Amino acid sequence: MAKLQLVTFPHPVLRHKSKPIMRVDAELHDLVNQMFEIMYDFRGVGLAANQVALPIRLFVANPSGDRKEKEQEMVFINPVINKPKGTVEAEEGCLSLPGINANVFRSKSLEVNAYNLQGMEIAGPVDGFLARIIQHELDHLDGVMFIDRLSEEGIRPLGEDLTKLVRRFDEGRNTGNIPSDQQLSEQIAMWEKKYC
Ligand code: ZN
Repeated sequence: MAKLQLVTFPHPVLRHKSKPIMRVDAELHDLVNQMFEIMYDFRGVGLAANQVALPIRLFVANPSGDRKEKEQEMVFINPVINKPKGTVEAEEGCLSLPGINANVFRSKSLEVNAYNLQGMEIAGPVDGFLARIIQHELDHLDGVMFIDRLSEEGIRPLGEDLTKLVRRFDEGRNTGNIPSDQQLSEQIAMWEKKYC
C-alpha cells in the first residue's frame, strides 16, 4: 500500500487540477484513513487529496479537528458546490502553507453535492465553519490555494514566509527528498489511471 505524505507549497501537485473518481476500492479506503491520520497529526480540520500528492477529487474533513470525534468525520468524493450566498471574512490556515495565516473572503452558505466512500450521496445546505472548510478544500482540488484569494495588500506581509517555503522546497529537490517534475507526472498518471 502506498504511504502518503503531506506536501507543502510550492509542490507542483498543489497546482494540479484533480480528476473525478470513477471507482472506489480497498486501497482508496486505506488512503482515506491515512489522510485522516495526517490531518489530525498536523492539527488540521480538512485535507484535500492533492495535499498528499493524490490527483483525485476527494477531500476529508472533521470540523472538530479531534480524532476522538469520529462521528464528525466526512469524506467528500467528486464534490460540487451550488447556490453560494453571502460573503464572510475569517482567518484561514493550510497544512500545505505551514505557519501562514490570513483573512479570506468566502461564501457564507452554499449547497454541496458529493459522494462518500460507501457511494451514498451527500447533499444539502451548509453554512458556518463547515462551509468554509468545504470551499477551502474544493479550491485545492482545482489547484487553488487560499493565498490566491488574497488582495495585493493581503499577500504582501506573507512574502518572506512564502520565500522560506520555496527555499525549503528547493532544498528538498536538491537532496532528492522531493521527486522531480518527471517523476511526479509519472506518479500523477499512475493514480489517474487507477481511479479516474
Ligand atoms: Zn489547505
